[in-house]
Amino acid sequence: MIVVFLGPPGAGKGTQAQRLVEEKGFIHISTGDLLREAVKKGTELGKKAKEYMERGELVPDELIVALIKEKLPEEGKVILDGFPRTIAQAEALDRMLAELGKKVDAVVLFEVPDEVVVERLSGRRVDPKTGKVYHVKYNPPPEGVEVVQRDDDREEVVRRRLEVYRRQTAPLVEYYERRGNLVRVDASKSPDEVYGEILTKLGL
Ligand code: ADP
Ligand code: AMP
Repeated sequence: MIVVFLGPPGAGKGTQAQRLVEEKGFIHISTGDLLREAVKKGTELGKKAKEYMERGELVPDELIVALIKEKLPEEGKVILDGFPRTIAQAEALDRMLAELGKKVDAVVLFEVPDEVVVERLSGRRVDPKTGKVYHVKYNPPPEGVEVVQRDDDREEVVRRRLEVYRRQTAPLVEYYERRGNLVRVDASKSPDEVYGEILTKLGL
């Protein structure tokens, strides 16, 4: 089963994916996490991706498609988080899956107003040791856990990322709507409510 999580940065995609991993045995593939790992390790991909990420721009499609080709598991229940982000990536994904006799089974669109996203991203903190995501107000880290802020969660970069989402990624809503496999969730609600809505809409 292949599920795509679509929505602006900060909508809560990673948070919900993590819970589906823990409770429902999904495999979580986040291109953002994979790219950050590549940057940290200083790989060829990381060197090429770094500047785009710092500016809040998308990394070129061919690099991302090659990355997904390498990381997409052949079996299991998979959540694609943060991929595809352009029509070209969605088309490449369809071709890749068709070769394996598969398809995108469902697309979950996280609907949330911009001001909520800005508040969530400005308060987001990450534990660099485990990659776990917290929020200073909504999900504070436990005592003793040292957290950091992502470079691209600074306000000016957040605004750029929202513009990029609107221009390059939002057209995917129509792309998947036409295929009839898009479901919408109200991502401005509490994490538990959003989780419940995802389970219902995916029939899990
Ligand atoms: P995305 O993966 O879509 O970029 P995250 O899952 O990292 O988003 O969530 C962004 C921030 O908002 C994090 O700090 C997270 O703890 C917080 N968050 C996620 N879901 C909710 C929610 N339903 N209500 C309040 N805060 C949330
Ligand atoms: P995320 O963790 O999903 O917010 O992604 C962080 C950054 O990684 C984005 O701002 C982009 O620069 C890059 N990125 C992640 N996924 C993709 C993708 N599918 N296509 C292009 N760039 C991506």
